Amino acid sequence: METFPTAAMADWPTTDWKRRFRRRLLAWFRRAARDLAWRRTRDPYRVWVSEIMLQQTQVATVSDYFPRFLAAFPDVAALAAATEESVLRQWEGLGYYRRARQMHRAAGVIENEHAGRFPREIDAIRTLPGIGRYTAGAIASIAFDARQPILEANTVRLLSRLVVFRGDPHQAAGKELLWSLAEELLPRRGCGEFNQALMELGSLVCTPRQPSCCDCPVMALCPTYRDGLHELVPLVRRKPPAEAVREAAVVVRRRGRVLLLRRGERGRWGGLWDFPRFALPTPGDGDTADALVAGVDSLTGVLVRPLRQLTTLKHSVTRFRITLDCHLAEYVSRRRGNGTSAEMAWVAPAELDAYPLSVTGRKLGRLISDGT
Ligand code: SF4
Repeated sequence: METFPTAAMADWPTTDWKRRFRRRLLAWFRRAARDLAWRRTRDPYRVWVSEIMLQQTQVATVSDYFPRFLAAFPDVAALAAATEESVLRQWEGLGYYRRARQMHRAAGVIENEHAGRFPREIDAIRTLPGIGRYTAGAIASIAFDARQPILEANTVRLLSRLVVFRGDPHQAAGKELLWSLAEELLPRRGCGEFNQALMELGSLVCTPRQPSCCDCPVMALCPTYRDGLHELVPLVRRKPPAEAVREAAVVVRRRGRVLLLRRGERGRWGGLWDFPRFALPTPGDGDTADALVAGVDSLTGVLVRPLRQLTTLKHSVTRFRITLDCHLAEYVSRRRGNGTSAEMAWVAPAELDAYPLSVTGRKLGRLISDGT
């Protein structure tokens, strides 16, 4: 067994340990790395798009969206020139829509303040909307081979295990320690490949539960494996229990069109269009028809007559398990001075395709387009 660092940092990685670690990691990566579309390029725009998409999203999902997004917006100029709505339409289904809105804004900044060229310097990259320390380090190292570290979920876990860090990696002290380690491990050149190798090892081998230590290229260097601590390191924060909520979405019909409203930038599905949607009281706790009328009125100032329930959709958002009762209602009138500032549109079902909708909004849109 070789010398390795410990959680107490009594023996922070030695030069010899780092050399062996890099050599083994890179040899493994060149042999075992997945062939992913964004790994075939060093174009900063493409690296940026992939890094933003990969935040909170599975590789398999991004593999579908990445080529479609690039076909729609092949470069920074195309993204900057697009409407926010068309960007959100391409992003539809990926979730965390703030990412798309910030990318769109950042493209405008690159066009206006950097003459359309993606900035190379880490400080300039970090000033772009939606780009934090991790994303800036990933873009700078992968696209420009800058000697910049990265730290995200996979590498937090991997690096914690490489030094048996038993504290909370999400607290300031833990983060500082792991960022220092990420920086310390970097080779002199080829940092983009090295960073990707770290993430790949964390993603494929050093997994949250039951890591494949026997297939791990750095097993002989790993104190967590030696001490059988891989189920205890890193410290896992308990997630709050899921909360069941009941909501309604109302398709309001008027002369062959349906009512959509644009969701505010804050909150779920910010910037997307949706059918009027709101929380419902629990069953038995008041009249659903009254709740539907009041809910649509408060959001839009439109008075409706509920007709019938169309369907029920179940889905989860963050820690909420949502039961969405979808209703059909007809337009009655609109209150004057209704006090709502919501952006609204009456849309023919055949035109819904042009609007970015939430996943449930799209399902409901398809249902009414099919003539249900
Ligand atoms: S030996 Fe196991 S715990 Fe250590 S880095 Fe490899 S997979 Fe992770």
